Amino acid sequence: MTEETTSSNFISNIIDEHMRNGRFHGRVQTRFPPEPNGYLHIGHAKSILLNYGIARSYNGKFNLRFDDTNPLKEEQEFIDAITEDVRWLGADWEDRLFYASDYFEQLYQWAIQLIKDGKAYVDDLTAEEIRQYRGTLTEPGKNSPYRDRSVDENLDLFERMKKGEFPDGSRVLRAKVDMASPNINFRDPVMYRILHAEHPRTGSEWCIYPMYDWAHGQSDSIEGITHSICTLEFEDHRPLYDWFIENLGIHAPQQIEFARLNLTYTVMSKRKLRRLVEEKFVDGWDDPRMPTIRGMRRRGYTPETMQKFAELIGVAKSNSTVEIEMLEHVLRDDLNQFAPRAMAVIRPLKLVITNYPENMVEEFEVPTHPQDKENSETRVVPFSREIYIEQEDFLENPPKNFFRLGPGREVRLLGAYLITCDAAEKDADGNITTLHCTYDPESRGGNPSDGRKVKGTIHWVSAQHAVSAELRLYDRLFTDAFPENTADGVDFTANLNPDSLEVLTGCQLEPNLAEAQVGDRFQFMRQGYFVVDSDSTPDNLIFNRTVGLRDTWAKVQQNS
Ligand code: ATP
Ligand code: MG
Repeated sequence: MTEETTSSNFISNIIDEHMRNGRFHGRVQTRFPPEPNGYLHIGHAKSILLNYGIARSYNGKFNLRFDDTNPLKEEQEFIDAITEDVRWLGADWEDRLFYASDYFEQLYQWAIQLIKDGKAYVDDLTAEEIRQYRGTLTEPGKNSPYRDRSVDENLDLFERMKKGEFPDGSRVLRAKVDMASPNINFRDPVMYRILHAEHPRTGSEWCIYPMYDWAHGQSDSIEGITHSICTLEFEDHRPLYDWFIENLGIHAPQQIEFARLNLTYTVMSKRKLRRLVEEKFVDGWDDPRMPTIRGMRRRGYTPETMQKFAELIGVAKSNSTVEIEMLEHVLRDDLNQFAPRAMAVIRPLKLVITNYPENMVEEFEVPTHPQDKENSETRVVPFSREIYIEQEDFLENPPKNFFRLGPGREVRLLGAYLITCDAAEKDADGNITTLHCTYDPESRGGNPSDGRKVKGTIHWVSAQHAVSAELRLYDRLFTDAFPENTADGVDFTANLNPDSLEVLTGCQLEPNLAEAQVGDRFQFMRQGYFVVDSDSTPDNLIFNRTVGLRDTWAKVQQNS
């Protein structure tokens, strides 16, 4: 993130004010606090890059902290994946990788402190009763009959909760705040619950676990976080976090809320993403159609693309939805600058140049970065009598404005020769199997000696030199811009795009691509941007289509 972007957003205005008034003595420390209950998605990426970018631009620090307070949903697998994804994005936490579970003992001691101060109590109501007593947005809650237990009784019960004397759900520790508060978070929130469950890090050491609201603010405080940046749904929790911090008398971070990233044609909730994986609508968390960081990475996104996108969308105070065309625009823009060009025939049609000598092979030198005037890198592609072209580059009865091949028509083979189509050979079913053409030997490089105009240029590969590959053509996962807006009783999966993946085998690529490594990106000329898939091997090349060539962002902007 550049200085310029961070200093123009409202978060920086707040931090700048703190710098001026000395609230944190010139210190800035941010963090990204994922719960390890799933894989990270592009929304998380925005939060990571925001927090890391702010720390960087103020010469501050950035922590990674797992909010691992719910052992029922959290797994080591997710911890490992999240760590890897944050690292891939380029956000550097240096030696500051923390876990809320590191603070379980401290949190327990602080709970005892609040009990002693008469600010927390053990409640025997059931979860259902607690809900009923809580009241609603329009009605105040009612005090629990256990609210006025003595400090000694609370201390005794809480200790026995910790020792494992009581079954799950039989008791909780609650903060004693205000059951009539207009802010429901203040109505004696639960701080601890009993849960006899193995924790990925603390094992069976604990059978009481802190609630997120009790753990989160104190974890920030322990780490000396100055600016605790989170999404808008935590705005109503901020007064509670401040209440805890104030009553404990510990370091008080400033919480700042910003709007979540939403994207059209995308679902972002972990629960829904998990359903897509578990119900096999996609091939796993790293399926290139998923908005997960690993899915996008496999699709061909780079950390730089994510960064540019994050900068472009900025941070907002109110929720909105970003058009996916904008993300694709940033992606294309990046790929256009850096991706080497290559020729790949994705639906091959054989073409024989009947007047080309049978065993002759010529080599043509073609530019690898024709879009970049500064970059003179070239590559060599072999040419011979039999080549492949795209099926769609030939029409038996072409309309006038079709500038590719048809009977009697002339076209340029990119960087090679001009050819004219003489005949189309068909199989018994009438499908065209082979084209017979003649070439103009005086047009080497694609320029005729007599200066005649040939409008169409098509790509090609030499049949005997081509390498075969599987291409996976990915498209958007949903057909609806707002896949979650469904009629009653209709699930978001009803909006899945049945054509989000088309697998083509036997595609014919220029031989230079035989050397391509996993993660290498190319522009297949006239076809789109492709990346070598993680399943690809030299014997079984697999490319994923990252995105097509046509940029629709300008059009979307015009219409909105
Ligand atoms: P859930 O609440 O279902 O666990 P979550 O997306 O809130 O999902 P967390 O692990 O709690 O998951 O999120 C970690 C951080 O990422 C939080 O600070 C949260 O505010 C931020 N975050 C999550 N989703 C988005 C989003 N779409 N845009 C921006 N930030 C997000
Ligand atoms: Mg969350």
